[in-house]
Amino acid sequence: MEGLVIKSTGSWYTVEGKNQQRYECRIKGKLRMKGLVSTNPVAVGDIVDFELEPELQTGVISKVHDRKNYIIRKSINLSKQVQIIAANLDLACLVVTLASPRTSLGFIDRFLVTAEAYGVPAVLVFNKLDLFNQEGLEILDNYIDLYQRIGYPCYSVSAIKGTNIETLEALLKDKISLFSGHSGVGKSSLINRLIPGKELRTGQISDWSDMGKHTTTFAELFDLPSGGKLIDTPGIRELGITDIEKYELGHFFPEMRALMNDCKFNNCVHINEPGCAVLKALDEGDLEPTRYDSYQSIYFGNDTRH
Ligand code: GDP
Ligand code: ZN
Repeated sequence: MEGLVIKSTGSWYTVEGKNQQRYECRIKGKLRMKGLVSTNPVAVGDIVDFELEPELQTGVISKVHDRKNYIIRKSINLSKQVQIIAANLDLACLVVTLASPRTSLGFIDRFLVTAEAYGVPAVLVFNKLDLFNQEGLEILDNYIDLYQRIGYPCYSVSAIKGTNIETLEALLKDKISLFSGHSGVGKSSLINRLIPGKELRTGQISDWSDMGKHTTTFAELFDLPSGGKLIDTPGIRELGITDIEKYELGHFFPEMRALMNDCKFNNCVHINEPGCAVLKALDEGDLEPTRYDSYQSIYFGNDTRH
């Protein structure tokens, strides 16, 4: 049978079959994905083949299907090994607020770069819309305009008032999505709107850039009543971005990626090279300065985490 892994506790995996039935499964012998050394061979979001054990209600996973993407964290003890947190994500939603607390553009850009590097489509969800006055709404519009022009869909919502929650539901429908964002931006409140009555592990909804205290991962996919699944996993530490080679960083800024072919040198890193199309665009106002600032601060590794 084929199924979707919706929960992982280390040695047991809950697999949802195509018949919507759930089975507790173990792994058979050695399961290896080619070219990837990980501490866990199976993660939530994986599509697996499994067989039911005779007489028992449990199953045995025999194969993991190829993943379209996966997010990892470095293993704490074994530097070469990684832990797969989740696979086959359809969407990464960054919940941001422009006030109480303010999410910085640097933080937003780092998240977007991480999502690009993992190959997960990203959107921005601006929460606490109810707090905005006219002036605030104009600033919000500028932010939304900035990111939509690059190609990141933006949504403005209010978890408290319930504004535009249906739009969010429609977005998440039939997808496997991850919610991320600073603590206090309203992730739990939004999730409670989306899954009424669901008490998620407070403070543990994945914060891609958060320094999680947890060393074990009990990731889980939760059903959205209107279709789709949401991943909830303990704080994820030191995610991905440190693994990006400097010379390829520009590829993870879509608007820079579009310019790079016109750089004079094909190994241009867009810092001070002559004939750099990115610097030219910046000069001529065709590249958002805040985005280039983020590029530079990631490039030089002086990005503060928040
Ligand atoms: P989390 O840490 O990201 O899970 O954030 P919470 O959902 O716990 O929310 C943090 C605080 O922001 C709480 O006091 C919420 O009541 C408040 N909050 C969440 N969403 C909204 C919103 O849409 N508008 C307003 N005004 N406050 C909100
Ligand atoms: Zn260049």
